[in-house]
Amino acid sequence: MSSSKYPHLLQPLNLGFTTLKNRVIMGSMHTGLEEEKNGYDRMAAYFAERAKGQVGLIVTGGIAPNRQGWTAPFTSKITNKREANRHKKITKAVHENDGKICMQILHSGRYGYHPFAVAPSAIKSPISPFKPWALSKMGVNRTIRHFVRAAKLAQHAKYDGVEIMGSEGYLINEFVSAKTNKRTDKWGGEFENRIQFPLDIIRRTREAVGENFILIFRLSMLDLVEEGNTWEETVHFAKEIEKAGATIINTGIGWHEARVPTIATMVPRAGFSWVTEKMMKEIKIPLITTNRINSPEKAEEILAKGHAHMVSMARPFLADPEIIKKAIEGREEEINTCIGCNQACLDHVFKQKTASCLVNPRACHETILNYTPTPAPKTIAVIGAGPAGLAAATVTAKRGHKVTLFETHTEIGGQFNIAKLIPGKEEFYETLRYFANEIKIHGVELKLNTKATATELKQFDEVIIATGIKPRQIKLKGIDNENVLDYEDVLKLGKPVGKKVAIIGAGGIGFDVAEFLSHEGESPSLDTNLFLKEWGIDGTNSVRGGLLKPNPHPSPREITMLQRSDSKIGKDLGKTTGWIHRQSLKMKKVTMLNGVSYDKIDEKGIHITINEKKQLIEADTIVVCAGQVSVNLLHEELIKLGKTPHLIGGGKNAKKIDAQRAIREGSELGADI
Ligand code: FAD
Ligand code: SF4
Repeated sequence: MSSSKYPHLLQPLNLGFTTLKNRVIMGSMHTGLEEEKNGYDRMAAYFAERAKGQVGLIVTGGIAPNRQGWTAPFTSKITNKREANRHKKITKAVHENDGKICMQILHSGRYGYHPFAVAPSAIKSPISPFKPWALSKMGVNRTIRHFVRAAKLAQHAKYDGVEIMGSEGYLINEFVSAKTNKRTDKWGGEFENRIQFPLDIIRRTREAVGENFILIFRLSMLDLVEEGNTWEETVHFAKEIEKAGATIINTGIGWHEARVPTIATMVPRAGFSWVTEKMMKEIKIPLITTNRINSPEKAEEILAKGHAHMVSMARPFLADPEIIKKAIEGREEEINTCIGCNQACLDHVFKQKTASCLVNPRACHETILNYTPTPAPKTIAVIGAGPAGLAAATVTAKRGHKVTLFETHTEIGGQFNIAKLIPGKEEFYETLRYFANEIKIHGVELKLNTKATATELKQFDEVIIATGIKPRQIKLKGIDNENVLDYEDVLKLGKPVGKKVAIIGAGGIGFDVAEFLSHEGESPSLDTNLFLKEWGIDGTNSVRGGLLKPNPHPSPREITMLQRSDSKIGKDLGKTTGWIHRQSLKMKKVTMLNGVSYDKIDEKGIHITINEKKQLIEADTIVVCAGQVSVNLLHEELIKLGKTPHLIGGGKNAKKIDAQRAIREGSELGADI
C-alpha cells in the first residue's frame, strides 16, 4: 500500500450524516447510455466498475427535471416514479460495490437542442439553432417544483444525494447572469434577484429531502463570457448557497459557449484549481475543484496546497475505472491516463453516439467488450507497435496468449511518437508509458529494431498485422525540390524549416504541423500562466466574467495553410476541439486558404489558383500533409504463404485513421482471439 503517498487524497470526508471514503468524486458525464436500449443495465455495470475502483463519490450524467429541460429530444428526464424506478439498478449496483452515488439534475435552458427549450429571457445562444421561450412567472415556479420533484425521485431511487447543475451556461446559470436574464419581475434585475431562482431550488429541495441527503451545487465560479458575473457576486452567491442548505459546492468553469478551452488537452493539468482556491476562505462547506485533473499525484498536490477539499475527475474514470484503486495500491504505472482528447467521449455525445474512450474502448461498453482469460493459449505475432498493435498485443497477452511484438523502430508508439511532440499534446506520452508497462506486466516479448518477415511469421498460430501508415506523396511540379518536406521530415527528423512556410493539407496533421511551427519550444499546456495569458483569462478575478484580451506568444514563422476542398477549414477536426485549433492558429496569425488548386512549386514558394486567380504563396519551406497511405505489404505476402493474418489500424484502412479506431480495432480483435 502506498496510501501514505496520498495523505490528502485518501483522507475520508465526514459530512456529518455520511462519510465519503476519500476526496475523489467522479464528475458528471452524459454518456448516451441513458437513452440506449438496455442503457440502465449498461450504466449499472459501468458505474459498478467505478465504485469497485474505490472512487469516493460518483455523480451521474445530467437528468432533466422536465421535458423542457432536455438537452436534446428524448434525452433522459425524471418526472415520475416509473422513471425513477429504472435508476434503482444503478444505485443497487453502486451500493453493492461499497460506493456512493448522486444524481445530477440538469435543466439545459437555452442550450436545449429542441423547440421546447426555455430560458429566463427569449435570447438565443450562439451554439444552438433554437430560440428559447421565456419562462412565464408560473413557468418559473413550476420549474422550481420540478427540480424539487426530481430530487425527491432521486431519493426514492436510493441515490445518496443530488447535484444541482448551476454552471456551464445551463438554465440556472442563465437566471444568475445579466447576459441572459433580462426579466423585470422578481426573478430578474439586480444580482440579488437573479440568484433567487437557484436559492429557492436549494432551499425547497433541502426541505423536501431532509438533512441526511447530499446536496451538491455546481457553481459557475468563472463564466468566461462577456457580461459574466464578477468575483464579488460569485462569492456572495456561494455564501447564500451555503445558507440555503447545500452540503458541498462544486466548481464550474466556463459556459459551453465560452471561446476559451476549459477541459481539452491543451489546458494545463489542474489549470483552473486556482479559482476554487480563492473560494476556500469564503465558505465553510466542502469545495470541489475540477477541470483537467487526470492523475492522483496532481490531485494530491492540489489538495495538499489547499486549493479544495475534494477533486472532481470525470473523463479519467472513462480512461481507467481503477485509477484510485491503482493509486492506493501503488500501481500508478498501470494507470491508463485520460489524455484530454475528447475524441471518444464528448465528441461522441455531441454526435448523439454512445460515449467511450480513445485509450479504453471498454468505457461504457462494460457488458459488451471484455478481456476474459483464454481457455486455449496460442502463439501470436503482432507486427507494428503503433496504437493498434500495442492494443492488440497487450490485450491478447493479458488474456493468456503468448505474444511477440515486432517493431522496426527503436521505440514503441508508431505515429503517436510524432503526435506527442506537438505543443498541447504532451499527454500522449502517458499512453505510451501505459502501453510500455502493459507490455512488461503481461509478458509480451518485444522485439524492437526488428523488421518482421513473412517467412519467420509462419510459425505463429495467429499473426496480427498493424503496420500502420506512411505520409501520402502528391504529384506536383517541383515536389522533389529541396524546399519541400513532409510532416515526418519536420516532426520526426527535425529537418530545418524556414521563416515563411506553406502547408499543403489542412487536416488534423496539417493543423498539428502549424501548431508545432508556430511555437518556439514553449507550450502553454505545460505552463498555466502562459495558458491564461494566451487565452485572455483573468487570473486575478478582477474583471467581470474573467475575460481579458488574448495575448499569445507570437509565432516565429509566417504560416499559410492550404486546402484543396472549398469546405470550411478544419471541418473534420473534433466536434468539441476543432474550434480551439482554429482559434489558436488564428491568434498566431496563420493564414488559412481553401478551394486551392496547386500549380507548381519553385524556389519562390508555391503557385496556386483560387477561383481562377493565380497567386504565389511565398515560402522558404513547403510542408506536405496530404493524408496517408496504408503500409500492408506483409499482409499480402502472408496470404500468399497460406496464412490468414488479421489486419488492423492504419494498415487496414488509412482513410480517416486515428488512434481511437486503431486502439479499438486492436482491443476488439485482442478480446476475440
Ligand atoms: P502506426 O502508428 O503507423 O504504427 C505502425 C507501426 O508499425 C510503426 O511503429 C511502424 O514502425 C511499425 N511497422 C511497420 N512495418 C513494420 C514491419 N514490417 N515490422 C515491424 N514493424 C513495422 N490520432 C488521434 O486519434 N488523435 C490525435 O490527436 C492524433 N494526432 C496526431 C498527430 C500527428 C502529428 C500524427 C502524425 C498522428 C496523429 N494521430 C492522432 C494519428 C494516430 O497517431 C494514428 O492514427 C495511429 O498512430 C495509427 O495507428 P496504427 O497502429 O494503425 O499505425
Ligand atoms: Fe479522456 Fe480522450 Fe478518453 Fe475522453 S476519449 S476520456 S478525453 S482519453
